Amino acid sequence: MSNILISTLTTCPYCGVGCGISASAPDQAVTVQGDSTHPANYGRLCVKGSALAQTLSAEGRLLKPQVNGNDCDWPTAISAVAEGLQQTIVQHGPGAVAMYLSGQLLTEDYYVANKLMKGFIGSPHVDTNSRLCMASTVAGHKRAFGADVVPGCYDDIEQARLFVLVGANMAWNHPVLFGRIQAVLQAHPEAKLVVIDPRRSASCEAAQLHLKLRPGSDVLLFTGLLSFLAEQGKLDYRFINMHTDGFAEALASAQLQAATVQQVAAGCDMPLEDVLLFYRWFADQPLSLTLFSQGVNQAVDGTDKVNAIINCHLASGRIGKPGCGPFSLTGQPNAMGGREVGGLANQLAAHIDYSDKAQQALVGEFWKAPNLVTQPGFKAVELFDAIERGEIKAVWIMATNPVVSMPQADKVKAALAKCPLVIVSDIYQHTDTLELATIKLPALGWSEKDGTVTNSERRISRQRALCAPFGQAKADWQIICDVAKALGFNQGFNFDSAAQIFAEHAALSGFGNAGERAFDISGLQHLTTEQYQKLAPIQWPVTSTHPNGTARLFADGQFFTANGRAQFIAVQQGTFKPVMPDAPLRLNSGRLRDQWHTMTRTGEVASLMQHTPEPFVTLHPSDAALYGITTGELVKLANNNGAMLVRAQISDKQRPKELFIPMHWSAQFASQARADVLFAADTDPISGQPALKLSQVALTRFAPKWQAFLFTKTLLTPGQLQRFSQHYLARVPLTGCQSYRLALSTAPDSDKHVLQLLQLTPTLYCREQSSSAEFTYRAAAIADNQLQWLLLAGPALPDIDMTWINQQFSVPLSKQTRQYLLSGQAGQGIASDNSALICSCFNVRSKAICEAIQNGADSTAQLGKQLQCGTNCGSCLPELSALLAQQLNKTLSDVNG
Ligand code: SF4
Repeated sequence: MSNILISTLTTCPYCGVGCGISASAPDQAVTVQGDSTHPANYGRLCVKGSALAQTLSAEGRLLKPQVNGNDCDWPTAISAVAEGLQQTIVQHGPGAVAMYLSGQLLTEDYYVANKLMKGFIGSPHVDTNSRLCMASTVAGHKRAFGADVVPGCYDDIEQARLFVLVGANMAWNHPVLFGRIQAVLQAHPEAKLVVIDPRRSASCEAAQLHLKLRPGSDVLLFTGLLSFLAEQGKLDYRFINMHTDGFAEALASAQLQAATVQQVAAGCDMPLEDVLLFYRWFADQPLSLTLFSQGVNQAVDGTDKVNAIINCHLASGRIGKPGCGPFSLTGQPNAMGGREVGGLANQLAAHIDYSDKAQQALVGEFWKAPNLVTQPGFKAVELFDAIERGEIKAVWIMATNPVVSMPQADKVKAALAKCPLVIVSDIYQHTDTLELATIKLPALGWSEKDGTVTNSERRISRQRALCAPFGQAKADWQIICDVAKALGFNQGFNFDSAAQIFAEHAALSGFGNAGERAFDISGLQHLTTEQYQKLAPIQWPVTSTHPNGTARLFADGQFFTANGRAQFIAVQQGTFKPVMPDAPLRLNSGRLRDQWHTMTRTGEVASLMQHTPEPFVTLHPSDAALYGITTGELVKLANNNGAMLVRAQISDKQRPKELFIPMHWSAQFASQARADVLFAADTDPISGQPALKLSQVALTRFAPKWQAFLFTKTLLTPGQLQRFSQHYLARVPLTGCQSYRLALSTAPDSDKHVLQLLQLTPTLYCREQSSSAEFTYRAAAIADNQLQWLLLAGPALPDIDMTWINQQFSVPLSKQTRQYLLSGQAGQGIASDNSALICSCFNVRSKAICEAIQNGADSTAQLGKQLQCGTNCGSCLPELSALLAQQLNKTLSDVNG
């Protein structure tokens, strides 16, 4: 890797907060810190953003194109892609070709991909993983506002005094914005945070009220709120009459479904006084901001949930004004940018829908498109179903991992396995999806890319390259344009830079747009390359009348509907379809603090893997007792769609009979922990978004006969681990080695047999005990005084000091160390803290924190002063608060300061 810039401003590639980053490369090593000038974060970064520099390694990168498993040069790869697509089109028509894109792509990549498919190849089948995260919000916004548009901006946080978080664990998933909310709560004692979530998430640690509602009852809760506002005389009839339609129908429907607060409390399975308190707080506080995310979107009634929330804001006139409004928290860094160019199968480009034929014609005219599509294509679930049916015969997947992230993930895997042409563009050489690719194309990673992204508040920011490309990796837009030209479409794809693509995209947004389309950045269409390079973060619309962008929309009460009025929607609660009759437990999935999506990047960062090293399921103590499960046991979750093997966590943060699993693990990190195999492909009928928050499973104990910790200097091959892929395996990268947790349901015949399975040869071997019933032994290999591997096995996982073992892989082994090595414990007098990692930035563990509390630290500020924990990104502050509360037996509100 060679660095090309000394210092530059760019943006974080993870969540939709879209934090600005200041990166520098003083001595060839890139360092990152928050960009103090960026309005999304003003210098702050969360733990994932702070660890970005640790992802910039050539190790594991896909460095060359490959066709049918053979490395090749780019001309060969481009020809293979073009010929494969051409043959498919000739034999089966353009509708047999599809693209599946990603919110990780830059807007410029997305623009040319969409243009190639919808204007030139003539296939409408372009969808994106944004379908899995934002589609219900898009549909809800379009129904209410007439456009896919977030009304407010982040600065509304500082103005608001009531924050309502719905289906959004912001403390972990949008941490920097959550930090801004926490600052308001501290500065303004009257400010309040309400968290609406079936489980007690980290965000609840800062909340004054947690509504632990029955999963899927959000529509009832918000229709109840609308009824309550009407009953209490808290409606803004002036706003309703002047700027909206459909209020009477929406209210009548709400009153029918949620006639009384008692009825709502019963339906949502919550204490009446909690529901009432929330309703009163909302009714009395005009400065109320409702922030929502995947807990709202990923549901069979996701679109209605969005509109149920928007209805309350329209009815109270809390929209288009500072400090209030419904606020969708985008999951991905460029989900919004992708939609701007038409990345969804039901959009054309520049927010133009297929339903408007006149607008549609504008796109054809602007692109000079030979094959403009006129009908929507397959949405994500439909798209993979079409592959499974053999209708789609060639698919190009970019920057996403559907074999892990799609519902019924096993079915998606099988569909891709039989698809004649699977082209995958990715930055890594091993992902679950890439393993099924016919053609593999190495794409640029975050630090090498150049283009733009749009965050949750409509802010377009530049992502700028810090490093030269790894290997032969190329920009996605460049690869797409090369393929387009190889297909004979020279004219539309003769771009030399991302700046040229952005200019065309900006021009299209204003083409024939007299104000009817919300997305308009025509004010940026004439940027020179130099101006594009220097482009400062700016919120769309950017037009000749708003050259500096637009922070907040709808201040004038004008919406993008045909008559300019916002629409109330009479919403209905959806019905959960049981997966199977004998699966008694309800399953929810979500994200973790230190991981991003399918872990391709964050999973390889040792410090990020420490916080939650293994896949798990959380269950309520009453269920643990019922099933006879103890903490740390392996359990199997199964239903008609698939099965998972994970470790049990027991916590009253869950509601009884409900389970939570993380969504991140792939086959690269665990044998059987792909969460989405357990979710049916049920979708919201309006948005097509899959319901990834609610499934049903049976739980059984997995009683292993043999378990082990294995540490290795180098990554083991799939062949070495093959036997364990049928049982339990979880890989955790550490700084000095790889660590594996292994379990077999049947005891191996002998210690020799285990070593044969792993293809390992010991040089230091301690056979402690061995019989057919119980099997305990330890072995290691040392070469040139360096530890190569260490195996510590038995009927249960042995008690070891992982921190100390990890250190031994980076130092020459002393005589004393060898003495203790097979015990897995640091010897007497050697200090080592092996407790749970709480602060990833400063490597502060729970033991040190608890000791500090016992020695007098009684606030997060005190802990920060003594140990530094929580003083960098702040992502661990909720856990510090929880530890303080636990140790001091205090209420959380006492310690949050
Ligand atoms: S909150 Fe964290 S993950 Fe999200 S953009 Fe900011 S630094 Fe990146």
